Amino acid sequence: MEKPKVAFFEFTCCEGCQLTVLSLGDKLLDLFESVDVVNFREASSYRGQDYEIAFIEGSISTSKDIDRIREIRKKAKICVALGSCAHIAGVNAIKNFHNQLEVKKRVYGEKAWAFDSILAQPIDAVIKVDYVIPGCPIDKKEFLCVAASISNGVRPFIPEYSVCVECKMKGNVCVYHKPNPIVCMGPITRAGCGAACPSVGNACEGCRGLVSDPNLEAYEGVLEEHGISADDKMRFYRMYNGLVGGVK
Ligand code: SF4
Ligand code: SF4
Ligand code: SF4
Repeated sequence: MEKPKVAFFEFTCCEGCQLTVLSLGDKLLDLFESVDVVNFREASSYRGQDYEIAFIEGSISTSKDIDRIREIRKKAKICVALGSCAHIAGVNAIKNFHNQLEVKKRVYGEKAWAFDSILAQPIDAVIKVDYVIPGCPIDKKEFLCVAASISNGVRPFIPEYSVCVECKMKGNVCVYHKPNPIVCMGPITRAGCGAACPSVGNACEGCRGLVSDPNLEAYEGVLEEHGISADDKMRFYRMYNGLVGGVK
């Protein structure tokens, strides 16, 4: 049986999710036994133009990105958003809430006018996305499970419940039960990371995006009850989820 051809592409991002894939080591070699990787800039200089599965990392943030990602979509049977930049625009969307000219000047200086830059968008704003691997960066085990499912023609499993479920299963003391509580987006964020941040004493910043049907009213009630300021709430929300409707 012919192996499915897989390609990786990057748009605006830090390429940390592809680096996560690369750091799989032996497990990546196992995966390469069952698929043909024809495009993976961080691993090989070969550039194949014939592929069935495209893993796409990064946000759309230039007008050229739009044409390029449409071309990828035309060639691929399956497109997978890899990481929060591709999934929800992630940290790239922070700039959307500021004056765009000022943002460009801050980055490019006086030559800012010469650079092509548009508001950051998740890739599904431009193309149909078949599957998502959430996170910033993605989780190694989840990538392997999703890649194996897709290459075997099976729908991958991504949890529908919140980070709080995993946090409770780990026996962590909730930040909202501690003195001086901070914002934690665990109640409305999609699980799958094993509550990585609350398990080491940090708050969940929502890098995996929101669950499909978040109870925003109850969540906002908890923040209010603990005296979290509107500014703190919005700062957390816009870290990754600024483009996702919900928290006001
Ligand atoms: S999701 Fe995070 S780790 Fe992945 S490319 Fe974007 S910024 Fe980097
Ligand atoms: S610390 Fe955060 S993730 Fe853990 S239970 Fe509390 S709100 Fe949920
Ligand atoms: S706890 Fe929240 S911010 Fe941390 S990895 Fe999980 S989803 Fe991302």
